[in-house]
Amino acid sequence: MRKKVLVLGGNFGGLHVALGVRHELEEDVDVTVVAESDRFLFTPSLIWLPFGKRRPADITFALAPTFGMHGVEFVHAAATSIDARARLVHTTKGVLPYDYLVIATGYRNTFDALPGFADADGAYTITTLADAIRAGEGWRGFLDAPGPVVIGATQGAGCFGAAYEFLFNTSYQLKKAGLRGRVPLTYVTTEPFLGHFGIGGLPGGEKLLKLFLKKEGIEAVTGVAMEEIASGKLRLADGRDLPYAYAMIVPPFTGQEVVRTVPGLADEAGFVPVRDTYQSRGFPDIYAVGVAAAVQVPWTAAIPVGVPKTGFPTEVQARVAAANIAAQIRGEEPAKHKEFGAIPAVCVMDAGNNGVLILADRMLPPRKFGVMIPGPQSHAAKVMFEKYFLWKTRHGYVRLP
Ligand SMILES: Cc1cc2nc3c(=O)[nH]c(=O)nc-3n(C[C@H](O)[C@H](O)[C@H](O)COP(=O)(O)OP(=O)(O)OC[C@H]3O[C@@H](n4cnc5c(N)ncnc54)[C@H](O)[C@@H]3O)c2cc1C
Repeated sequence: MRKKVLVLGGNFGGLHVALGVRHELEEDVDVTVVAESDRFLFTPSLIWLPFGKRRPADITFALAPTFGMHGVEFVHAAATSIDARARLVHTTKGVLPYDYLVIATGYRNTFDALPGFADADGAYTITTLADAIRAGEGWRGFLDAPGPVVIGATQGAGCFGAAYEFLFNTSYQLKKAGLRGRVPLTYVTTEPFLGHFGIGGLPGGEKLLKLFLKKEGIEAVTGVAMEEIASGKLRLADGRDLPYAYAMIVPPFTGQEVVRTVPGLADEAGFVPVRDTYQSRGFPDIYAVGVAAAVQVPWTAAIPVGVPKTGFPTEVQARVAAANIAAQIRGEEPAKHKEFGAIPAVCVMDAGNNGVLILADRMLPPRKFGVMIPGPQSHAAKVMFEKYFLWKTRHGYVRLP
Protein backbone atom coordinates (compact mmCIF):
# COMPACT_ATOMS: atom_id res chain seq x y z
CA MET A 1 0.00 0.00 0.00
CA ARG A 2 1.35 3.41 -0.95
CA LYS A 3 1.58 5.80 1.96
CA LYS A 4 -0.66 8.86 2.01
CA VAL A 5 0.81 12.27 2.78
CA LEU A 6 -1.82 14.91 3.41
CA VAL A 7 -0.76 18.56 3.42
CA LEU A 8 -3.02 21.26 4.86
CA GLY A 9 -2.22 24.60 3.22
CA GLY A 10 -0.96 25.36 -0.28
CA ASN A 11 1.16 28.47 0.10
CA PHE A 12 4.90 28.77 0.91
CA GLY A 13 5.09 25.86 3.36
CA GLY A 14 2.43 23.54 1.95
CA LEU A 15 3.51 23.84 -1.67
CA HIS A 16 7.18 23.22 -0.86
CA VAL A 17 6.51 20.19 1.35
CA ALA A 18 4.03 18.58 -1.05
CA LEU A 19 6.29 18.91 -4.09
CA GLY A 20 9.36 18.07 -2.01
CA VAL A 21 7.85 14.74 -0.87
CA ARG A 22 6.77 13.99 -4.43
CA HIS A 23 10.30 14.62 -5.74
CA GLU A 24 11.93 12.60 -2.93
CA LEU A 25 9.76 9.49 -3.47
CA GLU A 26 8.61 9.98 -7.08
CA GLU A 27 5.74 7.53 -7.73
CA ASP A 28 5.95 5.69 -4.38
CA VAL A 29 3.62 7.97 -2.46
CA ASP A 30 0.19 9.63 -2.71
CA VAL A 31 0.39 13.34 -1.94
CA THR A 32 -2.74 15.44 -1.46
CA VAL A 33 -2.92 19.15 -0.67
CA VAL A 34 -6.03 20.65 0.93
CA ALA A 35 -6.12 24.44 0.91
CA GLU A 36 -8.78 27.00 1.67
CA SER A 37 -7.44 29.26 -1.06
CA ASP A 38 -7.11 27.85 -4.57
CA ARG A 39 -4.39 30.38 -5.41
CA PHE A 40 -0.81 30.83 -4.29
CA LEU A 41 -0.28 34.31 -2.82
CA PHE A 42 3.14 35.98 -2.85
CA THR A 43 2.63 37.88 0.41
CA PRO A 44 5.83 39.99 0.17
CA SER A 45 4.20 42.00 -2.64
CA LEU A 46 1.18 42.95 -0.51
CA ILE A 47 3.17 46.05 0.51
CA TRP A 48 2.72 47.39 -3.04
CA LEU A 49 -0.91 46.42 -3.66
CA PRO A 50 -2.60 49.35 -1.82
CA PHE A 51 -0.67 51.83 -3.99
CA GLY A 52 -1.83 50.19 -7.22
CA LYS A 53 1.70 48.96 -8.02
CA ARG A 54 0.45 45.37 -8.13
CA ARG A 55 -2.96 43.82 -8.84
CA PRO A 56 -4.06 40.57 -7.16
CA ALA A 57 -3.56 38.72 -10.47
CA ASP A 58 0.10 39.86 -10.60
CA ILE A 59 1.00 38.23 -7.28
CA THR A 60 -1.15 35.08 -7.24
CA PHE A 61 -1.50 31.98 -9.40
CA ALA A 62 -3.87 29.00 -9.52
CA LEU A 63 -2.60 26.05 -7.50
CA ALA A 64 -4.39 23.16 -9.27
CA PRO A 65 -2.30 23.27 -12.51
CA THR A 66 0.98 23.45 -10.56
CA PHE A 67 0.10 20.45 -8.40
CA GLY A 68 -1.41 18.63 -11.39
CA MET A 69 1.88 18.93 -13.33
CA HIS A 70 3.66 17.10 -10.51
CA GLY A 71 1.11 14.38 -9.75
CA VAL A 72 -0.10 15.95 -6.51
CA GLU A 73 -3.84 15.89 -5.89
CA PHE A 74 -5.27 19.28 -5.00
CA VAL A 75 -8.49 19.69 -3.01
CA HIS A 76 -9.84 23.22 -2.75
CA ALA A 77 -11.43 22.98 0.70
CA ALA A 78 -11.00 24.04 4.31
CA ALA A 79 -9.95 21.51 6.92
CA THR A 80 -12.55 21.66 9.68
CA SER A 81 -11.26 19.12 12.21
CA ILE A 82 -8.32 16.77 12.70
CA ASP A 83 -8.65 13.37 14.37
CA ALA A 84 -5.02 12.67 15.21
CA ARG A 85 -5.78 9.24 16.71
CA ALA A 86 -7.74 7.94 13.72
CA ARG A 87 -5.47 9.82 11.28
CA LEU A 88 -8.38 11.53 9.56
CA VAL A 89 -8.97 15.13 8.49
CA HIS A 90 -12.52 16.39 8.05
CA THR A 91 -12.80 19.02 5.34
CA THR A 92 -15.61 20.99 3.71
CA LYS A 93 -15.34 18.46 0.87
CA GLY A 94 -15.28 15.20 2.85
CA VAL A 95 -13.03 13.15 5.10
CA LEU A 96 -9.44 12.37 4.09
CA PRO A 97 -7.20 9.71 5.69
CA TYR A 98 -3.44 10.12 6.06
CA ASP A 99 -0.33 8.30 7.14
CA TYR A 100 1.61 11.55 7.48
CA LEU A 101 -0.02 14.94 7.98
CA VAL A 102 1.63 18.31 7.34
CA ILE A 103 0.21 21.43 8.94
CA ALA A 104 1.07 24.45 6.79
CA THR A 105 -2.03 26.50 7.47
CA GLY A 106 -0.25 29.76 8.25
CA TYR A 107 -1.85 32.51 10.31
CA ARG A 108 -4.94 34.49 11.17
CA ASN A 109 -4.90 38.16 12.21
CA THR A 110 -5.61 38.81 15.89
CA PHE A 111 -7.44 42.11 15.71
CA ASP A 112 -8.48 41.79 19.40
CA ALA A 113 -4.92 42.76 20.36
CA LEU A 114 -5.95 46.36 19.63
CA PRO A 115 -9.47 47.18 20.83
CA GLY A 116 -11.43 49.07 18.17
CA PHE A 117 -9.24 47.88 15.27
CA ALA A 118 -12.01 46.00 13.48
CA ASP A 119 -14.32 49.06 13.39
CA ALA A 120 -12.05 52.11 13.24
CA ASP A 121 -12.49 54.14 10.05
CA GLY A 122 -9.24 54.73 8.20
CA ALA A 123 -7.34 51.93 10.00
CA TYR A 124 -6.17 49.00 7.88
CA THR A 125 -3.73 46.15 7.73
CA ILE A 126 -2.09 44.50 4.71
CA THR A 127 -1.45 41.01 6.05
CA THR A 128 -3.96 39.19 3.82
CA LEU A 129 -4.98 39.81 0.23
CA ALA A 130 -8.49 40.95 1.23
CA ASP A 131 -7.04 43.30 3.86
CA ALA A 132 -4.53 44.77 1.41
CA ILE A 133 -7.32 45.40 -1.13
CA ARG A 134 -9.27 47.29 1.57
CA ALA A 135 -6.11 49.20 2.51
CA GLY A 136 -5.87 50.26 -1.15
CA GLU A 137 -9.46 51.50 -1.21
CA GLY A 138 -8.71 53.46 1.96
CA TRP A 139 -5.53 54.88 0.44
CA ARG A 140 -7.37 56.21 -2.60
CA GLY A 141 -9.90 57.89 -0.28
CA PHE A 142 -7.04 59.29 1.81
CA LEU A 143 -5.47 60.97 -1.24
CA ASP A 144 -8.70 63.00 -1.63
CA ALA A 145 -8.71 64.03 2.04
CA PRO A 146 -5.13 63.74 3.33
CA GLY A 147 -4.06 64.02 6.98
CA PRO A 148 -1.63 62.43 9.45
CA VAL A 149 -0.48 58.89 8.67
CA VAL A 150 0.41 56.29 11.29
CA ILE A 151 2.10 52.98 10.44
CA GLY A 152 2.96 50.42 13.09
CA ALA A 153 2.92 47.01 14.69
CA THR A 154 1.00 46.12 17.85
CA GLN A 155 2.18 44.26 20.93
CA GLY A 156 2.74 40.61 20.08
CA ALA A 157 3.19 41.27 16.35
CA GLY A 158 6.23 39.71 14.66
CA CYS A 159 5.86 40.75 11.02
CA PHE A 160 7.90 43.97 11.44
CA GLY A 161 9.52 43.79 8.00
CA ALA A 162 6.14 44.38 6.35
CA ALA A 163 5.49 47.37 8.63
CA TYR A 164 8.85 48.97 7.76
CA GLU A 165 8.43 48.28 4.05
CA PHE A 166 4.95 49.77 4.05
CA LEU A 167 6.24 52.77 6.02
CA PHE A 168 8.94 53.62 3.49
CA ASN A 169 6.67 52.87 0.54
CA THR A 170 4.07 55.21 2.06
CA SER A 171 6.69 57.94 2.40
CA TYR A 172 7.66 57.42 -1.24
CA GLN A 173 4.02 57.51 -2.39
CA LEU A 174 3.32 60.65 -0.33
CA LYS A 175 6.24 62.34 -2.08
CA LYS A 176 4.92 61.27 -5.47
CA ALA A 177 1.50 62.69 -4.57
CA GLY A 178 3.09 66.00 -3.51
CA LEU A 179 1.96 65.45 0.07
CA ARG A 180 5.18 64.59 1.88
CA GLY A 181 5.82 67.98 3.47
CA ARG A 182 2.14 68.43 4.29
CA VAL A 183 1.21 65.35 6.32
CA PRO A 184 3.06 63.95 9.35
CA LEU A 185 4.12 60.30 9.09
CA THR A 186 4.70 58.35 12.32
CA TYR A 187 6.00 54.82 12.94
CA VAL A 188 4.80 53.18 16.16
CA THR A 189 6.31 49.91 17.28
CA THR A 190 6.69 47.63 20.27
CA GLU A 191 10.28 46.93 19.17
CA PRO A 192 12.59 48.18 21.95
CA PHE A 193 14.66 50.02 19.30
CA LEU A 194 14.44 50.74 15.59
CA GLY A 195 15.66 47.85 13.44
CA HIS A 196 15.03 45.17 16.08
CA PHE A 197 12.74 43.47 13.53
CA GLY A 198 11.70 40.85 16.08
CA ILE A 199 15.08 39.13 15.61
CA GLY A 200 17.05 41.14 18.16
CA GLY A 201 18.49 43.62 15.63
CA LEU A 202 21.68 43.43 13.57
CA PRO A 203 24.96 45.35 13.89
CA GLY A 204 24.48 48.94 12.71
CA GLY A 205 20.78 48.33 12.09
CA GLU A 206 19.41 50.84 14.57
CA LYS A 207 21.72 53.58 13.29
CA LEU A 208 20.77 52.82 9.69
CA LEU A 209 17.04 52.84 10.40
CA LYS A 210 17.36 56.11 12.35
CA LEU A 211 19.15 57.66 9.37
CA PHE A 212 16.47 56.40 6.97
CA LEU A 213 13.66 57.79 9.14
CA LYS A 214 15.41 61.13 9.62
CA LYS A 215 16.01 61.50 5.88
CA GLU A 216 12.34 60.81 5.22
CA GLY A 217 11.14 63.07 8.05
CA ILE A 218 9.38 60.18 9.81
CA GLU A 219 8.73 60.34 13.58
CA ALA A 220 9.38 57.09 15.48
CA VAL A 221 7.76 55.89 18.70
CA THR A 222 9.48 52.71 19.91
CA GLY A 223 8.91 50.33 22.82
CA VAL A 224 5.29 51.23 23.31
CA ALA A 225 2.10 49.19 23.22
CA MET A 226 -1.10 50.38 21.58
CA GLU A 227 -4.09 50.69 23.90
CA GLU A 228 -7.03 51.29 21.58
CA ILE A 229 -7.98 52.76 18.26
CA ALA A 230 -11.07 54.73 17.32
CA SER A 231 -11.80 56.49 14.04
CA GLY A 232 -9.11 59.16 13.68
CA LYS A 233 -7.24 58.49 16.95
CA LEU A 234 -4.74 55.87 18.09
CA ARG A 235 -4.22 55.78 21.86
CA LEU A 236 -0.87 54.45 23.05
CA ALA A 237 -0.36 52.68 26.37
CA ASP A 238 1.71 55.64 27.65
CA GLY A 239 -1.38 57.85 27.31
CA ARG A 240 -0.35 59.62 24.11
CA ASP A 241 -2.98 60.07 21.39
CA LEU A 242 -1.88 60.00 17.76
CA PRO A 243 -4.37 61.47 15.32
CA TYR A 244 -4.55 59.78 11.94
CA ALA A 245 -6.38 60.06 8.64
CA TYR A 246 -4.82 56.79 7.44
CA ALA A 247 -3.30 54.02 9.56
CA MET A 248 -1.77 50.67 8.64
CA ILE A 249 -1.16 48.42 11.60
CA VAL A 250 0.29 44.92 11.68
CA PRO A 251 -1.49 42.80 14.32
CA PRO A 252 -0.15 39.64 15.97
CA PHE A 253 -0.83 36.33 14.28
CA THR A 254 -2.40 33.20 15.70
CA GLY A 255 -2.72 29.73 14.21
CA GLN A 256 -5.92 28.30 12.70
CA GLU A 257 -8.77 27.06 14.93
CA VAL A 258 -8.69 23.66 13.22
CA VAL A 259 -5.16 23.22 14.56
CA ARG A 260 -5.59 24.90 17.94
CA THR A 261 -8.45 22.60 18.90
CA VAL A 262 -6.61 19.27 18.43
CA PRO A 263 -5.80 17.91 21.91
CA GLY A 264 -2.03 17.78 22.48
CA LEU A 265 -1.09 19.26 19.10
CA ALA A 266 -0.93 23.03 19.42
CA ASP A 267 -0.15 25.73 21.97
CA GLU A 268 -2.70 28.30 23.16
CA ALA A 269 -2.12 30.49 20.14
CA GLY A 270 -2.78 27.59 17.79
CA PHE A 271 0.86 27.07 16.74
CA VAL A 272 2.35 23.59 16.71
CA PRO A 273 5.40 23.01 18.95
CA VAL A 274 7.91 21.13 16.79
CA ARG A 275 11.22 19.29 17.08
CA ASP A 276 14.10 20.33 14.83
CA THR A 277 12.88 17.68 12.37
CA TYR A 278 9.55 19.61 12.08
CA GLN A 279 7.66 16.67 13.57
CA SER A 280 5.14 17.86 16.12
CA ARG A 281 6.27 17.22 19.68
CA GLY A 282 3.10 15.27 20.41
CA PHE A 283 2.65 13.27 17.20
CA PRO A 284 5.65 11.95 15.20
CA ASP A 285 3.43 11.43 12.13
CA ILE A 286 2.32 15.09 12.09
CA TYR A 287 4.67 17.79 10.81
CA ALA A 288 4.26 21.56 10.95
CA VAL A 289 6.13 24.18 8.93
CA GLY A 290 6.03 27.92 8.31
CA VAL A 291 3.90 30.22 10.41
CA ALA A 292 1.93 27.22 11.74
CA ALA A 293 5.02 25.95 13.60
CA ALA A 294 5.60 27.44 17.06
CA VAL A 295 8.82 29.38 17.69
CA GLN A 296 10.15 30.02 21.17
CA VAL A 297 10.80 33.77 21.54
CA PRO A 298 14.35 33.98 22.96
CA TRP A 299 13.76 37.09 25.09
CA THR A 300 11.32 38.33 27.64
CA ALA A 301 10.09 41.87 27.20
CA ALA A 302 7.65 43.96 29.20
CA ILE A 303 5.78 44.52 25.93
CA PRO A 304 5.56 41.31 23.87
CA VAL A 305 7.61 41.41 20.65
CA GLY A 306 6.98 38.49 18.28
CA VAL A 307 9.41 36.69 15.98
CA PRO A 308 8.95 37.05 12.20
CA LYS A 309 8.30 33.67 10.59
CA THR A 310 9.28 34.61 7.08
CA GLY A 311 9.28 32.90 3.71
CA PHE A 312 12.92 31.80 3.60
CA PRO A 313 12.84 29.82 6.87
CA THR A 314 9.48 28.41 5.80
CA GLU A 315 11.09 26.98 2.64
CA VAL A 316 13.99 25.55 4.65
CA GLN A 317 11.59 23.95 7.14
CA ALA A 318 9.56 22.52 4.25
CA ARG A 319 12.68 20.91 2.72
CA VAL A 320 13.66 19.40 6.08
CA ALA A 321 10.11 18.10 6.65
CA ALA A 322 9.84 16.63 3.12
CA ALA A 323 13.15 14.76 3.51
CA ASN A 324 12.12 13.43 6.93
CA ILE A 325 8.67 12.29 5.76
CA ALA A 326 10.35 10.49 2.85
CA ALA A 327 12.78 8.85 5.31
CA GLN A 328 9.94 7.68 7.54
CA ILE A 329 8.09 6.24 4.55
CA ARG A 330 11.27 4.36 3.56
CA GLY A 331 11.33 2.94 7.09
CA GLU A 332 14.25 5.12 8.22
CA GLU A 333 14.57 7.58 11.08
CA PRO A 334 14.11 11.29 10.25
CA ALA A 335 17.70 12.42 9.73
CA LYS A 336 17.43 16.12 8.80
CA HIS A 337 17.58 18.63 11.62
CA LYS A 338 17.47 22.43 11.54
CA GLU A 339 16.01 24.44 14.36
CA PHE A 340 14.31 27.72 13.42
CA GLY A 341 16.86 29.95 15.18
CA ALA A 342 19.76 28.35 13.25
CA ILE A 343 18.28 29.00 9.79
CA PRO A 344 20.09 31.91 8.07
CA ALA A 345 18.23 35.22 7.79
CA VAL A 346 17.90 36.35 4.18
CA CYS A 347 15.58 39.24 3.47
CA VAL A 348 15.22 42.22 1.16
CA MET A 349 13.41 45.18 2.67
CA ASP A 350 11.89 47.45 0.05
CA ALA A 351 11.65 51.20 0.55
CA GLY A 352 9.85 52.39 -2.58
CA ASN A 353 12.82 53.27 -4.79
CA ASN A 354 15.44 52.17 -2.28
CA GLY A 355 15.89 49.25 0.11
CA VAL A 356 18.05 47.20 2.45
CA LEU A 357 19.47 43.71 2.02
CA ILE A 358 19.49 41.85 5.35
CA LEU A 359 21.78 38.84 5.80
CA ALA A 360 22.73 36.93 8.94
CA ASP A 361 24.08 33.47 9.67
CA ARG A 362 21.17 32.77 12.03
CA MET A 363 17.58 33.98 12.37
CA LEU A 364 18.00 34.34 16.13
CA PRO A 365 20.99 35.24 18.34
CA PRO A 366 23.73 34.30 19.15
CA ARG A 367 25.08 35.13 15.68
CA LYS A 368 28.55 35.18 14.15
CA PHE A 369 27.63 37.82 11.60
CA GLY A 370 24.78 39.98 10.36
CA VAL A 371 24.79 42.81 7.85
CA MET A 372 22.36 45.32 6.43
CA ILE A 373 23.31 46.72 3.03
CA PRO A 374 21.27 49.76 1.96
CA GLY A 375 20.85 51.05 -1.59
CA PRO A 376 18.56 51.26 -4.62
CA GLN A 377 19.86 47.87 -5.83
CA SER A 378 17.80 46.29 -3.03
CA HIS A 379 14.58 47.64 -4.54
CA ALA A 380 15.60 46.17 -7.92
CA ALA A 381 16.54 42.90 -6.18
CA LYS A 382 13.11 42.61 -4.55
CA VAL A 383 11.34 43.18 -7.88
CA MET A 384 13.54 40.59 -9.60
CA PHE A 385 13.11 38.13 -6.75
CA GLU A 386 9.31 38.48 -6.96
CA LYS A 387 9.36 37.58 -10.68
CA TYR A 388 11.82 34.71 -10.15
CA PHE A 389 9.99 33.27 -7.14
CA LEU A 390 6.58 33.35 -8.84
CA TRP A 391 8.03 31.70 -11.97
CA LYS A 392 9.86 29.02 -9.98
CA THR A 393 6.91 28.26 -7.72
CA ARG A 394 4.26 28.28 -10.45
CA HIS A 395 6.28 25.61 -12.27
CA GLY A 396 6.89 23.68 -9.08
CA TYR A 397 10.68 23.96 -9.35
CA VAL A 398 11.04 23.74 -5.59
CA ARG A 399 14.59 22.40 -5.72
CA LEU A 400 15.85 25.68 -7.16
CA PRO A 401 17.24 28.12 -4.55
C1 LIG B 1 2.46 41.71 4.33
C2 LIG B 1 3.47 40.62 4.46
C3 LIG B 1 4.71 40.76 3.88
C4 LIG B 1 5.65 39.75 4.00
N1 LIG B 1 6.86 39.93 3.40
C5 LIG B 1 7.78 38.94 3.45
C6 LIG B 1 9.03 39.11 2.80
O1 LIG B 1 9.32 40.14 2.19
N2 LIG B 1 9.90 38.07 2.86
C7 LIG B 1 9.61 36.92 3.52
O2 LIG B 1 10.44 36.01 3.52
N3 LIG B 1 8.44 36.74 4.15
C8 LIG B 1 7.52 37.72 4.14
N4 LIG B 1 6.31 37.55 4.77
C9 LIG B 1 6.08 36.31 5.52
C10 LIG B 1 5.49 35.22 4.64
O3 LIG B 1 4.28 35.67 4.13
C11 LIG B 1 5.28 33.96 5.47
O4 LIG B 1 6.51 33.49 5.90
C12 LIG B 1 4.61 32.88 4.63
O5 LIG B 1 3.35 33.29 4.20
C13 LIG B 1 4.48 31.61 5.44
O6 LIG B 1 3.92 30.62 4.65
P1 LIG B 1 2.95 29.51 5.22
O7 LIG B 1 2.80 28.52 4.13
O8 LIG B 1 3.43 29.08 6.54
O9 LIG B 1 1.55 30.24 5.52
P2 LIG B 1 0.58 31.04 4.56
O10 LIG B 1 1.31 31.73 3.49
O11 LIG B 1 -0.28 31.85 5.49
O12 LIG B 1 -0.35 29.92 3.90
C14 LIG B 1 -1.36 29.26 4.60
C15 LIG B 1 -2.10 28.30 3.69
O13 LIG B 1 -3.02 27.56 4.47
C16 LIG B 1 -4.30 27.60 3.88
N5 LIG B 1 -5.27 27.42 4.97
C17 LIG B 1 -5.51 28.19 6.05
N6 LIG B 1 -6.45 27.64 6.83
C18 LIG B 1 -6.80 26.46 6.25
C19 LIG B 1 -7.70 25.42 6.58
N7 LIG B 1 -8.46 25.45 7.67
N8 LIG B 1 -7.79 24.36 5.74
C20 LIG B 1 -7.03 24.28 4.62
N9 LIG B 1 -6.17 25.25 4.27
C21 LIG B 1 -6.05 26.32 5.07
C22 LIG B 1 -4.34 28.92 3.16
O14 LIG B 1 -5.34 28.92 2.15
C23 LIG B 1 -2.91 28.97 2.59
O15 LIG B 1 -2.84 28.16 1.42
C24 LIG B 1 5.35 38.56 4.69
C25 LIG B 1 4.09 38.41 5.29
C26 LIG B 1 3.15 39.43 5.18
C27 LIG B 1 1.82 39.25 5.81
